[in-house]
Amino acid sequence: MTGDGTRCVHAGLPPAGPGAPVPAQPVLAAQFHLSEDPAADFYGRAGNPTWRALESAIGSLDGGECLVYPSGMAAISALLRVVVGPGETVVVPSDGYYLARGYAHEHVDAVVREVPTTTAEWDFTGARLVLVETPSNPGLDVCDLTAVAAAARAAGALLAVDNTTATPLGQRPLEFGADFVVASDTKALAGHSDVVLGHITAASAEWAQRLRAERTISGAIAGPFETWLALRGLGTLDLRLARQAENAAALHAALRGHPAVARVRWPGSPEDPAHEVAARQMRRFGGVLTAELASAEAAEAFVGRAALIASATSFGGLHTTADRRARWGDAVAPGLLRISCGCEDPGDLVADVLAALA
Ligand SMILES: *Cc1c(COP(=O)(O)O)cnc(C)c1O
Repeated sequence: MTGDGTRCVHAGLPPAGPGAPVPAQPVLAAQFHLSEDPAADFYGRAGNPTWRALESAIGSLDGGECLVYPSGMAAISALLRVVVGPGETVVVPSDGYYLARGYAHEHVDAVVREVPTTTAEWDFTGARLVLVETPSNPGLDVCDLTAVAAAARAAGALLAVDNTTATPLGQRPLEFGADFVVASDTKALAGHSDVVLGHITAASAEWAQRLRAERTISGAIAGPFETWLALRGLGTLDLRLARQAENAAALHAALRGHPAVARVRWPGSPEDPAHEVAARQMRRFGGVLTAELASAEAAEAFVGRAALIASATSFGGLHTTADRRARWGDAVAPGLLRISCGCEDPGDLVADVLAALA
């Protein structure tokens, strides 16, 4: 198999031929000339060559059959609608992305059980679907995918892993026995903070088919232009993740032990409580870390003084950003910042952060 960089650059490219474009191009058409071929495109809600380009690219990286959705939440909500029947039980992380939990509680006719990412003993008795998130957002806790998959299998439950933080290059949950990957590609996968998109990758063709049929009639479909932007971004994912991880390592080293920082977390650090499990199942650790300052005011003032850090939610983009998560109601310390390292130079970022903390 070729390396990550080669795979990203070549994923989803159109076939070569005289006069054919080298990069993938967006096809915006809503209508296609009709034919007797059942696999041919006919209407934009049912299928589109640009979706297939991104889906084949992500599917090959995730190791399954990918379906693109107009946002990460559209992917998660579609999975819950399709997989979980009335009165069945769904397990969701109590400390993961807050809207996944919120959607399950408010809009799914199911029994919702919340479990923390660092639970020691997994018990999914009676569950239809288990959703875990690792590393979790925003706490950056990690759960052991081999153990979770074994517990789900033992209980006869399906397992979905929210792989947003890791990306397909950082972690391949299907190889550990998960049935589905769900992700927000708004974050590092598309990587330029200019598109909202998501995907589900299913391990089985049957589930992919059921999801595709539901997507076609529910109409929750991604725009081809946004899909193309994500494909364009995916081409540099290997490069961006490498620089972002370099920056996260440098910031972690600069912040640990700093008198203004109570705690810093990054699963890539051997000192981090999540590192041992993360190192067993992750191929790379990405550029998101957390730093806990003394108070909400201290955290806000720090971000305000840092010239290279934008105060913004979301993560995984080219530009370094920080988000004080308690603002959104996450159950974290008021001074906790989720810092998403961008692709700036490590020396510049460290100097900026140290000056802003001084
Ligand atoms: C952002 C995010 C989502 C939701 O994705 P959208 O593209 O914003 O709909 C889901 N899960 C995780 C872990 C996220 O960070």
